[in-house]
Amino acid sequence: MASSAYRNGTLHKGAAKPISATTLKSSSFKSRLHPSQSLGSAVRRSSPASFGAASAGNDGVPGRVRVAIRLRPRNAEELVADADFADCVELQPELKRLKLRKNNWDSDTYEFDEVLTEFASQKRVYEVVAKPVVESVLDGYNGTVMAYGQTGTGKTFTLGRLGDEDTSSRGIMVRSMEDILADVSLETDSVSVSYLQLYMETIQDLLDPANDNISIVEDPKTGDVSLPGATLVQIRNQQSFMELLRLGEAHRIAANTKLNAESSRSHAILMIHVKRSVIGTEETLSSEIDNCSHLVKPSKPLVRKSKLVIVDLAGSERVHKSGSEGHMLEEAKSINLSLSALGKCINALAENSAHVPVRDSKLTRLLRDSFGGTARTSLIVTIGPSPRHRGETASTILFGQRAMKVENMLKIKEEFDYKSLSRKLEIQLDKLIAENERQQKKFDDEVGRMNLEAQNRISEVERNFADALE
Ligand code: ADP
Ligand code: MG
Repeated sequence: MASSAYRNGTLHKGAAKPISATTLKSSSFKSRLHPSQSLGSAVRRSSPASFGAASAGNDGVPGRVRVAIRLRPRNAEELVADADFADCVELQPELKRLKLRKNNWDSDTYEFDEVLTEFASQKRVYEVVAKPVVESVLDGYNGTVMAYGQTGTGKTFTLGRLGDEDTSSRGIMVRSMEDILADVSLETDSVSVSYLQLYMETIQDLLDPANDNISIVEDPKTGDVSLPGATLVQIRNQQSFMELLRLGEAHRIAANTKLNAESSRSHAILMIHVKRSVIGTEETLSSEIDNCSHLVKPSKPLVRKSKLVIVDLAGSERVHKSGSEGHMLEEAKSINLSLSALGKCINALAENSAHVPVRDSKLTRLLRDSFGGTARTSLIVTIGPSPRHRGETASTILFGQRAMKVENMLKIKEEFDYKSLSRKLEIQLDKLIAENERQQKKFDDEVGRMNLEAQNRISEVERNFADALE
């Protein structure tokens, strides 16, 4: 597989592998800088190639897909079976580099945005990989955090751990919601969640298992994708979210038992929708109206509707080993369709190819904003240390390297809040109607009074005239 190096945010095609240490410098994963700043000398994509049709407007800011690699510690079996062998990878976290051993004297070196050793804590992993994305979502951008790797290397550990027994083991899903709930104000903002599973090109609702064939709807104008059939649950506190994750996990196990499938073959997708009001709160409006009796120009109410998508992908080994476990070829293809389509789309984007086969699978349609679109995206690539899985580890690393070349064009998801504007205008209209009624009454009274006065004057003049005549 051809590989090209990522150099100071600029693409250099066909650079030799292993990459040269002197030319590489990756920008920090952690910074909450403006994406254009953190990318240094990044160039904007000029190619029409895009995973998402509605991407790359002129007002977007470039934001490359960030990729971290995490090594799982040796498990009990590996401690015994691989006791006499060295791990197949060696990490140099301070240099953000990974060496993949070919043999005792030769290895390939790869650079990532972040290299997380087997000792990296869940907190650190969250802060390095997901927190910048969560912060972007709170600022009104779409965001994606995705885990890719062979089964058993720690995707679910990294993303889905609830940390019931040990709070320090809480994964990215739980920590993301904690940060979101701490930042939003539930009076003016809302947070809602859907939880889905994608298996054999069918989307199932993990919050309502009866709902097992959800369709993807694309807005032909904006290219936005949505799942109107999926259950959407409003989140008011962390406990209710934890309950939801537990429920989803239980349904996932039940659904997979029924389908006679392992969960490693399906993709789990958590979607957190955040809706925030930006300006034009109720207080400013009522004070505006109280102060004046004539028409006031209402403040412009805006809402930011952003979405955080957290994807626990199916095990990456299925792409290469399809059919090896008693599945008929067609069935195996279908299991792997989404994952191999994702790989093809990322290749096409990395190579600035004119055609990106987004429509080939449900996963790539769902993630069209995440790669080459308008979202901030972080990918965590998980690997194991065992030399027996060197081949898998190598192809996982290459996937991560290619994903690092994907440029997104981040855009705020802000729209005019027609609902709240109409509510405000209605209040204003009612005030004006009342004011009008008051003025009308005052006018009528005044006319009445003047009539009476005129009448009195006339009577008086008539009386005076009569007196004079006499
Ligand atoms: P995947 O979802 O990729 O198939 P899992 O997350 O289920 O893998 O991890 C497989 C096993 O390895 C689990 O028992 C998990 O607890 C353990 N594990 C994974 N990553 C780590 C880690 N960083 N530290 C300790 N144990 C881990
Ligand atoms: Mg898993």
